[in-house]
Amino acid sequence: MRENHKTLPVVEKLSNAEETVWINLKKLPSAKKDLEISMADIDDAEARLERFAPFIMKCFPETKKDNGLIESALVPIPKMKRCLEETYKTSIPGALFLKKDSHLAVAGSVKARGGIYEVLKHTEELALAAGLISTADDYAKLAEPKCREFFSQYTIQVGSTGNLGLSIGIASAAVGYKVIVHMSADARQWKKDMLRNHGVTVIEYASDYSEAVKEGRRLSDEDPKSYFVDDENSVNLFMGYAVAAKRLKKQFNDQNISVDDTRPLFVYIPCGVGGAPGGVTFGLKEIWGDNVHCFFIEPVQAPAMLLGMATGLHNEISVQDIGLTGQTHADGLAVGRPSGFVGKVMEPLLSGEFTVSDKKLYDYMRALLDAEEIFIEPSACAAFEGPVKLLACEETKEYIKKNGLERVMENAAHIVWATGGSLVPEEIRKEYKNIYLDEPVKYRLI
Ligand SMILES: *Cc1c(COP(=O)(O)O)cnc(C)c1O
Repeated sequence: MRENHKTLPVVEKLSNAEETVWINLKKLPSAKKDLEISMADIDDAEARLERFAPFIMKCFPETKKDNGLIESALVPIPKMKRCLEETYKTSIPGALFLKKDSHLAVAGSVKARGGIYEVLKHTEELALAAGLISTADDYAKLAEPKCREFFSQYTIQVGSTGNLGLSIGIASAAVGYKVIVHMSADARQWKKDMLRNHGVTVIEYASDYSEAVKEGRRLSDEDPKSYFVDDENSVNLFMGYAVAAKRLKKQFNDQNISVDDTRPLFVYIPCGVGGAPGGVTFGLKEIWGDNVHCFFIEPVQAPAMLLGMATGLHNEISVQDIGLTGQTHADGLAVGRPSGFVGKVMEPLLSGEFTVSDKKLYDYMRALLDAEEIFIEPSACAAFEGPVKLLACEETKEYIKKNGLERVMENAAHIVWATGGSLVPEEIRKEYKNIYLDEPVKYRLI
């Protein structure tokens, strides 16, 4: 079976670690999709986050200004748009925006959406079952010492390349849980240090992300008072991410941005195991249907989701199976095997994918700093590959034509989803700024 897939042109390109564009031919018109999850699930997640807002405000005072909602700004980045057009000799018709999940409160990454949501959902279940609260109560109660003491009998565990661990670790420690984070070899030292400072137990693995998840799941299953946040299969994480779409709709209304037949929306999201970009995409498609076009971006050495979707094998194939290393400077995207759950949900929804070389991540990072004075981490910069390549590749130009968008591209809004960065310490930022991967010097991974 695998031999067959190796003859697919896109797999051959991926296996050579070439920058690749892939259009998803299984995408369906929104009226025809048939999924088991729906807007009602997103509404449920949104309502739960609202119930927890008083608690979030109490634990994380920085969220007071947003009444306990953890949400990020949507900002136009016209100077970056010009810079990309000039540097990469392309055009990006319409307006370019940055969705700053890089600056989300508490966790400084998109993981603040899914990770914190799942910890809160589990907390609500335990608290309701123990009679500590009813859903009509003010959840600020849950921050009282007697509740913290109750939660301290329980453990939360998670496998992570870094940012999910940060999000789950910080949120769980705030509730009062014991927390164990299983970190893959790709996780950066400063992320482990930060977690340990929050009282989190960090177990380090010499192996990759899939192994860290497997071992974490095993250890958690052995303990009846332990709950495992399963990044590869969790519907809760996914719904936490999906709430982003409803919040974005409000921001669009506030900023007078419309999305319809003549004003398409393009969204570019960096992808690791798939939960974050998948959840956001699911939400966006529920709201804007055929008028939103979602693309994922992965590193050339770790195109797990693209490989799984293009072959139809999903989590039954890994990037190592086609001779790639899975290693990348984009630590948040260093995943060799995708979520099978997310890949299958994405089949009728996703427009396509791009892969990007590590070198460009640092170039995009410096360009955004110079043009707009915004820092985001290298993994998050992968998303810029989308608008840069959209009109520079035959495959995507064909996509635009087929979808009847040529005449309306001037009205398009493009959103680069900045997935992380604000927690990166100053000295690490300085190091990043000086990494030029085209120079003969070999840089160590920080
Ligand atoms: C985790 C992460 C992603 C991708 O999310 P997945 O759910 O793993 O696909 C993208 N960017 C950053 C910075 C991340 O930490």
